[in-house]
Amino acid sequence: MDGDSKSVRARSWAEPFRIKMVEPITVTTREHRERAIASAGWNTFLLRAEDVYIDLLTDSGTNAMSDRQWAALMLGDEAYAGSRSYYHLEDAVREVYGYEELVPTHQGRGAEHILSQILIKPGDAVPGNMYFTTTRFHQERAGGRFIDVIVDEAHDPASTYPFKGNVDLAKFQAVIDEYGADRVPYISVETNVNMAGGQPLSLANLRATYELCRANGIYLMLDATRAVENAWFIKQREPGYQDRSVREILREICRYSDGATVSSKKDNLVNIGGFLALRDAELARRARGLLVAFEGLHTYGGMSGRDMEALAQGIREMVETDDHIAARIGQVEYLGKKLTDAGVPVVLPIGGHGVFLDARSILAHIPQEQFPAQALAAALYVDSGVRSMERGVVSAGRDPKTGENHLPKLELVRLTIPRRVYTQAHMDVVAESVIEVCEHASEIAGLRFTYEPDDLRFFLARFEPIG
Ligand SMILES: *Cc1c(COP(=O)(O)O)cnc(C)c1O
Repeated sequence: MDGDSKSVRARSWAEPFRIKMVEPITVTTREHRERAIASAGWNTFLLRAEDVYIDLLTDSGTNAMSDRQWAALMLGDEAYAGSRSYYHLEDAVREVYGYEELVPTHQGRGAEHILSQILIKPGDAVPGNMYFTTTRFHQERAGGRFIDVIVDEAHDPASTYPFKGNVDLAKFQAVIDEYGADRVPYISVETNVNMAGGQPLSLANLRATYELCRANGIYLMLDATRAVENAWFIKQREPGYQDRSVREILREICRYSDGATVSSKKDNLVNIGGFLALRDAELARRARGLLVAFEGLHTYGGMSGRDMEALAQGIREMVETDDHIAARIGQVEYLGKKLTDAGVPVVLPIGGHGVFLDARSILAHIPQEQFPAQALAAALYVDSGVRSMERGVVSAGRDPKTGENHLPKLELVRLTIPRRVYTQAHMDVVAESVIEVCEHASEIAGLRFTYEPDDLRFFLARFEPIG
């Protein structure tokens, strides 16, 4: 073997951790799963977790904590007021994200609720780079009108544009022109846009968006829930950032914002928690005024002392070195590559937290009003016990004005990878099942509602197959 052939041979990577504790999972039979999906009304949210083999429903709160986080739990200070653990969390947020003011909440939607209530007046426009379900819900509930200002590429599952999370500045300017800057309290900029398939925005785009905001007296509020994943993609794809650490890039992302909502159940490596972080002390004072009514006292929000302690540790760990995030996104890419190699249509580029199957093209025989992505998620569960979720017309809900279904261009099934939980062997099982289901796609029937909730209907809706 000469040195040359050595240097070109690709090397495998492996997880930067070893397993210290195991949790058994059950393999079920096909008959068992057919009964289970029927009693769940063909909605994977309504399955019992015990009936699931590999659970890719969400990466939200499904993280495996480290030994240091479990140790931190024991150090939680459960004082009602002024808990030491709160101050540890405040230090971690200041150090890693760079925001002065911390408003802790029970999870991301608690932060979205409070931010929407302090900034949005009825009739205001709230532009955003694609919607997120709970974010838009709270904006509309506060009387705001959400307006999508993401670049067109985000709506095209086949586009390989590297920054599909970017804000389209012309669309944003058009909102300012139509409503007037005083009716646009803030733009909601999501990092690594979830509903677009986990797609990043560039720092150049964020900086330009922030400049437009400053010129018009509009706040830029980040949804920084997945900012670490976004920072990793910036390091891979944006010229000038290859030699910067993810930790440094994260700080720079936050610099171009006035505050952020964060669901700690994602990047932050814990199972529950979240926060609103702000620069402006007066805004933070107003947020804390609502916090005491809706979440809890300002030094715990919705979290226990031990939750805050594990969260502070998770925030430091997520960016301690780049190894964690490299392996986390590397695992997603591993599954994505297995599927694309087999010709399965997925959203490209492969995103940060999951692989998104293009159900519209896999189930081309099912019209969108018969919920192809919902049907595909159910079929995948029946095949192998792999649980995924719909991200399409069911999740998009109805237009509050017209009552018509929103018909999003993206009709997707999301295979979301929990952090530090599954191995590559699990990913192999998932890929084989998806490929098998796609080969028999023509046998899958569309669905209709048997129960449709008014709000966030995808969580609790029930269906039955048509015909
Ligand atoms: C999960 C998530 C939220 C909501 O957070 P919860 O903790 O589930 O309330 C908001 N935004 C994004 C981008 C998310 O992924």
